[in-house]
Amino acid sequence: MGKMVYFFGEKGKESKPLLGGKGANLGEMTKIGLPVPPGFTISTQVCMDFLKEKKYPKGLEKEINSNIEKLEKRSKRKFGDERHPLLVSVRSGAPVSMPGMMDSILNLGLNNRTVKGIERESKNSRFAWDSYRRFIQMFGDVVLGVEHSKFEKILDKYKRGRNDTDLSTEELKKIVEEYKKIITSEGKRFPQDPREQLKMAIDAVFNSWNNKRARIYRKLHGIPEDVGTAVNIQVMVFGNLGWDSGTGVGFTRNPSTGENKPYGEYLMNAQGEDVVAGIRTPKGIEELRKDSPKVYQELMKVYEILDKHYRDMQDFEFTIEKGNLFTLQTRTGKRTAQAAVKIAVDMVKEKLIKKEEAIMRIEPEQIDQLLHKQLDPKEKERARVIAKGLPASPGAAVGIVCFSAERAEELAKKGKVILVRNETSPEDIQGMAVSQGILTARGGMTSHAAVVGRGMGKCCVVGCGDISIDEEKDMFTVRNLRIKEGDWITLDGGTGEVFIGKFKLVDPEMRGEFQILMNWADGIRKLGVRTNADTPKDSERAREFGSEGIGLARTEHMFFEGERIRTMREMIIADDSEGRRKALAKLLPMQKKDFIGIFKAMNGLPVTIRLLDPPLHEFLPKEDKEVRKMAREMRVKFKALKNKISSLAEFNPMLGFRGCRLGVVYPEITEMQTDAIIGAAIEVNRSGGEALPEIEIPVLSDVEEATFLRKIIEDAAKKLIEKNRVKVNYKVGTMIELPRACVTADKLSKEFDFFSFGTNDLTQTVYGFSRDDAGKFIPKYIEKGILETDPFQVIDRKGVGSLMKICVNLARKTNPRIEIGICGEHGGEKNSIEFCHLIGLDYVSCSPFRVPIARLAAAQAKIKNG
Ligand code: ADP
Ligand code: MG
Ligand code: MG
Repeated sequence: MGKMVYFFGEKGKESKPLLGGKGANLGEMTKIGLPVPPGFTISTQVCMDFLKEKKYPKGLEKEINSNIEKLEKRSKRKFGDERHPLLVSVRSGAPVSMPGMMDSILNLGLNNRTVKGIERESKNSRFAWDSYRRFIQMFGDVVLGVEHSKFEKILDKYKRGRNDTDLSTEELKKIVEEYKKIITSEGKRFPQDPREQLKMAIDAVFNSWNNKRARIYRKLHGIPEDVGTAVNIQVMVFGNLGWDSGTGVGFTRNPSTGENKPYGEYLMNAQGEDVVAGIRTPKGIEELRKDSPKVYQELMKVYEILDKHYRDMQDFEFTIEKGNLFTLQTRTGKRTAQAAVKIAVDMVKEKLIKKEEAIMRIEPEQIDQLLHKQLDPKEKERARVIAKGLPASPGAAVGIVCFSAERAEELAKKGKVILVRNETSPEDIQGMAVSQGILTARGGMTSHAAVVGRGMGKCCVVGCGDISIDEEKDMFTVRNLRIKEGDWITLDGGTGEVFIGKFKLVDPEMRGEFQILMNWADGIRKLGVRTNADTPKDSERAREFGSEGIGLARTEHMFFEGERIRTMREMIIADDSEGRRKALAKLLPMQKKDFIGIFKAMNGLPVTIRLLDPPLHEFLPKEDKEVRKMAREMRVKFKALKNKISSLAEFNPMLGFRGCRLGVVYPEITEMQTDAIIGAAIEVNRSGGEALPEIEIPVLSDVEEATFLRKIIEDAAKKLIEKNRVKVNYKVGTMIELPRACVTADKLSKEFDFFSFGTNDLTQTVYGFSRDDAGKFIPKYIEKGILETDPFQVIDRKGVGSLMKICVNLARKTNPRIEIGICGEHGGEKNSIEFCHLIGLDYVSCSPFRVPIARLAAAQAKIKNG
């Protein structure tokens, strides 16, 4: 192995894979002249090597030692020295930020003798012993594996409800003794030799790569296992040196709203993670102006430098030691979707980044948050606010309360839950993931719950001091109210309000920066974006979200609603064409009405309507009881009906009598649906609107099916149009969902004006995976690494994708003007959208809520691939 250790400043932010995010950015900050305490980074390669070989690579100790010497020179201190001891922090830092996953150790180098040196040198006994007890606690927990709570218990005993800063030196000394006893009683040994401390701490950081929390986090976020963590060893600076010292966290812009204003929290006389851990309630950064005007000015400079230098919102750590400011970490800050959009758009206006970069910065999935629920303003007026906390992550959530992550996981299987905790910790992550929202009694805007909540895009209210939780009794009290497990509450993560009861949530609107970003995306993307919608209401919503038409309107449900199913059944059990026509005549006006609604909602935009697709037996009852009822209603014999139903039953309905096969066997169905579609278009056009129907034939495999059905459709349409003398611009096309259709696309395309890939069925038929049964084995395939992703979610480029490409090329060869889109689930998934862009489709179609996601993803595909 080559060089294993790098001094801060040797490398910068580009070396994240090697030095981890923390190390690379500490190097970068050193380079640009920010006040970073000196230190060095042991590379991630060393970590992976160590985990494999179970020992240090050759020469590592020597490199570490020479870097420690460098630190000794810079700080004019010596490791283990009794008069001027060098203290360091040992900090983990992986290439991908994994908040709270791997713990750092502060004040390393302290022992029974050096603590006295610190005491003499600082003339501050309280500080010396506070540092020592913190060190033993961190070392005991992280390195020796003594449960964190055992130390907390002792600390709480001494605090007796006071703040940690109220502890006297004598008390701190006693705590140190008790801490040591706990460690010994666990059969562990607290090493006094600083070199041994250091070695053990480094090992512990490396090993923490494989601890359970880290593994869960990696799994949840798709982070590979072989990345490894770096170790940073850095000279300590002390925020716990008195009331002119402190520690804090800064965000160069507001991580919740995106507002371009310094944001942050700090605590005086505190160390390390005190702010994040919610030891005391932190102060807002503005207050530092009063607490320490000089440091405040310096800090504002740091905010500006970081924001400009990184050209993105930074989340950084600082410590003030006796009025001197130090920066200890920076990284790109996690933010809500709302903030992400605002920051990206603002930074374009501030000329820090280009439009394209702004678009690339937004994770398409993330904007989902912006499209989700808010508390109904009308309901909100009458809702009773029982408490108010900090608005840590916006959106609203409704659910029943529960008080532990495990309960949340259990109860979430049955319904919506809200996790209520004093504060959350990494062990709670899965419980948080399944909850609708999170409410904590303690902690600030940068607490674990807040950071993770924002990351997950989950409604989150923190630091809600009004409530007091009784975990033993599974309840919380607020004023004189008792809220028990199972009671409903509603949270507003945008305001921090907590309401008692179950309130209605409503869908949000698109405006402001979001609208601007979407317009930029529209100006860039090549792919059109349509929506899959079956009702006027969904169509309207999709239009608000920027849909450019309907790519798939299914007609099935139109046959299920209320009275219609009866007529439909009449049609199915009819013995002859005449009987069927009679029933269909009754269905026609109902269908026509539906289509008029959709055409009006999508006025001037194309609407693709798919002809009836599912197997007929889906419309018929199965249980004898129901069959009897139906027989009575239809005035037919039970036995006869029963026979009819069993004659329709299929062994493999997915490959059975469905799709265009229905129309081939019963052309009157196709005729009636065409009448309804064209009839509706005529009516809309006559009243001044513009309907643009695209009639789509499902599950087609052969050109003879195409010519046969096309003729039926054309004849019916022509007849109606001529009779009414109203012009209708309509198209006829087919869904491409069978391999045979793909490879004969050159012939099919001559018959049609458009194709639309039905990639759900196409994936099913290409893989031979039944959509209804694949859930049983696909997760196992993914677990075993045989499939990378679920092909029903992300297009299988190699198989399904290849066929699509073949189809597109064949189709365009014989019909260059053919319009080709996609309407499967994949149409709203960013990786699949990129593929659609690459093979030159005209549009993607997805559910209304995914339309903005698709618009953004389509723009990203263009930017990424030109
Ligand atoms: P995490 O990855 O969990 O953020 P860090 O390594 O950043 O952990 O360290 C935890 C806390 O200790 C942070 O608040 C950090 O600022 C503080 N800290 C780390 N190193 C030092 C140091 N050399 N001097 C003072 N504080 C430090
Ligand atoms: Mg931490
Ligand atoms: Mg940190």
